[in-house]
Amino acid sequence: MRVDVVTLFPGMFEGPLTESIIARARDNQLLDLHFHDLRSFGIGNYKQIDDKPYGGGAGMLMRPEPLVDAIEKITELGKSGKARKPHRIYFSPRGKKLKQKKVESIAKKKWLLLICGHYEGIDQRVIDGWIDEELSIGDYVLTGGEIPAMVLIDAVARHIPGVLGDDLSSHEESFSEALDRKKEHPHYTRPEIFREMKVPDVLLSGNHGEIEKWRKENLQ
Ligand code: SAM
Repeated sequence: MRVDVVTLFPGMFEGPLTESIIARARDNQLLDLHFHDLRSFGIGNYKQIDDKPYGGGAGMLMRPEPLVDAIEKITELGKSGKARKPHRIYFSPRGKKLKQKKVESIAKKKWLLLICGHYEGIDQRVIDGWIDEELSIGDYVLTGGEIPAMVLIDAVARHIPGVLGDDLSSHEESFSEALDRKKEHPHYTRPEIFREMKVPDVLLSGNHGEIEKWRKENLQ
């Protein structure tokens, strides 16, 4: 999967996307990430990207021209035989709440273009004309769309074949279809007794039927 991210702060992606499973997915060419500094599409000598909102009010808005220039240029440069157009997502508290089912459907796309907002957000005309989907990661307000973009990339990457060592591990997890979209059962590992707290007997019984039954009963 190819993912292009338009952001005012490309440096924020260092760390979360350069370690562990995501780093390995990138090394193995399963995940091809590209970060684009929106400032380089800014207007005039000062590379302006924001302006006052029409109608007044507090805060600034991101102007449409730099965003649309970025979207069009990235689409033009990135298109290939495999995918001619990216699926374009803008992160916003007003968007549809991101859930596992949506993550699974986005994971089937070949190419994503993610737009990270700042200030009070972006001009509505960009959303109307150049965005396929507006997504929220929860009912709270963050300072920018970078963390939502990282959340989506991480959640989606787990569903790309080959990214997790065992491809089945993303199938039987909280919110998966295999668990009827419920939350997973509790887990235990050694030691058998820790600070006087014991592992449930059924898990030590070796009776796979009983263990399965216990796990099903303990889904939430
Ligand atoms: N004025 C906006 C509102 O009241 O809905 C909040 C803008 S927020 C300070 C700046 C940017 O952060 C947004 O444009 C969006 O890209 C991102 N953002 C903040 N909270 C988010 C959330 N819960 N989900 C997705 N993106 C979010």
